[in-house]
Amino acid sequence: MKVIVLGAGLLGVTSAYFLRQQGHDVTVVDRQASPAAETSFANGGQISVSHAEPWANPGAPLKVLKWLGKEDAPLLFRVRADLRQWLWGLQFLRECTPARTRHNIAQIVRLGTYSRNTLQQLRRDTSIAYDDARRASCTSTRARRSSTRPRRRPRRCARSVATGA
Ligand SMILES: Cc1cc2nc3c(=O)[nH]c(=O)nc-3n(C[C@H](O)[C@H](O)[C@H](O)COP(=O)(O)OP(=O)(O)OC[C@H]3O[C@@H](n4cnc5c(N)ncnc54)[C@H](O)[C@@H]3O)c2cc1C
Repeated sequence: MKVIVLGAGLLGVTSAYFLRQQGHDVTVVDRQASPAAETSFANGGQISVSHAEPWANPGAPLKVLKWLGKEDAPLLFRVRADLRQWLWGLQFLRECTPARTRHNIAQIVRLGTYSRNTLQQLRRDTSIAYDDARRASCTSTRARRSSTRPRRRPRRCARSVATGA
C-alpha cells in the first residue's frame, strides 16, 4: 500500500519506520526543512515508563483555572470562541473524575510498557547508538490530612527506570 505520513516528528518517523517494516511504500511529508524540527526538537529526552499520571486528573481543573492567561503555564489553555475547543475541554473534564483517572493510569502503564519493549527491540534491530543513561527516579506520595489522624510522611516510593534518549 502507498502511505503518506504527515509530520516528521517522533510519531511520524517511527510510524513510517514500522509501516516500511510491514512492506508499505511510505513517504513522510513535513512543512519544515528537516525532521524533528518542532515539538520533537531537543525535548527532555527522558523515557519514564512508570510516570503514568495523566494530565486529566482530579486536581487538573483547578490548576488550569489558576494557569489561565499565563503563557508559561505547564498546561496552556488559550480560551477561544471555538466550538471544537470547548467540546475538547468538556471531554478533558470528563476524564478528570477519580474513576476515569484510575482507568487512564492503567492504560498509560500498559502503553508505556509496550512502548519501552518496542524501543528496546528497535534499538536491537537497528543498532542505533546514542548517549543514554539509566537512572532510578523516586516518586513520593503524601497521604491526605484527615481530621482524626496526623499528617503522614511520604509513604510510598516507586522506582522507575529512565533512559535518556
Ligand atoms: C519542552 C519539552 C520537553 C519534552 N520532554 C519530553 C521527555 O523528556 N520525554 C518524552 O517522552 N516526551 C517529552 N516531550 C514530549 C515529546 O517531545 C512529544 O510528545 C513528541 O515530540 C511529539 O511528537 P510528534 O511527532 O507527535 O509531534 P511533532 O514533533 O511536533 O511533529 C509533528 C510534525 O508535523 C509537522 N506538521 C504539522 N502540521 C503540518 C502540516 N500541516 N503540514 C506539514 N507538516 C506538518 C510539524 O512540522 C512537525 O515536524 C517534551 C516536549 C516538550 C515541548
